[in-house]
Amino acid sequence: EENDLHCIGCGAQLQTIDKKMPGYTPESALKKGLETGQLYCQRCFRLRHYNEIAPVNISDDDFRKLLSQISEADALVVYVVDMFDFNGSLIPGLHRFVGDNPVLLVGNKEDVFPKSLKRNRMKEWLKRQANANGIMPEDVVITSAKNAESVEKMFELIEKLRKGRDVYVVGVTNVGKSTLINSLISIRNGIKDLITTSRFPGTTLDRIEIPFDENSNLIDTPGIIHNDQMAHVLTAEDLKYISPQKTIKPRVFQLNDGQTLFAGALARFDYEYSVGSVTAYFENNLMIHRTKLENADSFYEKHAGELLTPPSAENIANLPQLVAHHFNIDQNSDVVFEGLGWISVREGSKVTAWAPEGISVVIRKSLI
Ligand code: GDP
Repeated sequence: EENDLHCIGCGAQLQTIDKKMPGYTPESALKKGLETGQLYCQRCFRLRHYNEIAPVNISDDDFRKLLSQISEADALVVYVVDMFDFNGSLIPGLHRFVGDNPVLLVGNKEDVFPKSLKRNRMKEWLKRQANANGIMPEDVVITSAKNAESVEKMFELIEKLRKGRDVYVVGVTNVGKSTLINSLISIRNGIKDLITTSRFPGTTLDRIEIPFDENSNLIDTPGIIHNDQMAHVLTAEDLKYISPQKTIKPRVFQLNDGQTLFAGALARFDYEYSVGSVTAYFENNLMIHRTKLENADSFYEKHAGELLTPPSAENIANLPQLVAHHFNIDQNSDVVFEGLGWISVREGSKVTAWAPEGISVVIRKSLI
């Protein structure tokens, strides 16, 4: 009879077998939930009580169903990306399943970017990135799910663009989609955490509908897992050490030719030919170590998981090998380690940037 039970948060059918699939709940929690009438899947339970990330997989089949739903709908698509991890935020084939529907691109987690970075430059950069991936957004907006004013601004833009239609919110896991929607709801309705506290009778698996008015809904879709994300290279514990919760404080390093910086054991930056200082933007507590380039290999081998963390010693074996990316810098630029941070370098320098296999390192024109 387990099959008839649904999570009152997300509507997923409850199951006790696969942790990574929607509706998972441990047997004991299911029993307790039946007694109290508060049946939540583990994901909604955690989100509700601990504000904790619990990504959920959907099968390719369900994903395809979801995609075709959107292309067949007459709706506004709100595509949420993490500006700290643009490549990790990409949804494969998004432009195909959007169909003719307009897209509003939302760059989230603005609060972690220092004020010195020009917001209009960030917007331009986001738009270019989207275009390069075949997505032509109607408009671009920068938000922080943690800042009510910016969420309000996003809402106004949604209202303007949707023209009475439904709104589908899409994004990969960890971009802050749930936090953003929760904060939108709490601003608009004064109801906190509606997603995970209200009952949505008849909601089908994985689809949360939040009424805008009598005729239209905001539809939250499941986060799609993107494997090339730092979030999936690290354990939840280690992830905490690299995800900025506050505005990043830039750290300036006076480097010479042939010096290396390590950001934990996750990134390595070789300044082969230097032109003055570099500025590092990482989570404020993430330790950055400096060595001579000629000693960097042995330094890493010796200290990864010990002096160089995260990952911690017990997880270092699971970290993919660091892969080198070479750059000749022809304008003031940021060398971006997706999902981890970036290092600003001056025109004319030559650098090698290393990141775990699968994690992209990209170069962008300085945002300052
Ligand atoms: P989802 O998987 O896309 O629904 O992502 P969540 O809403 O669960 O958020 C993932 C993580 O990012 C959580 O640790 C959030 O606290 C954090 N987060 C979400 N939005 C923001 C934001 O605007 N700024 C910052 N600094 N963190 C955010």
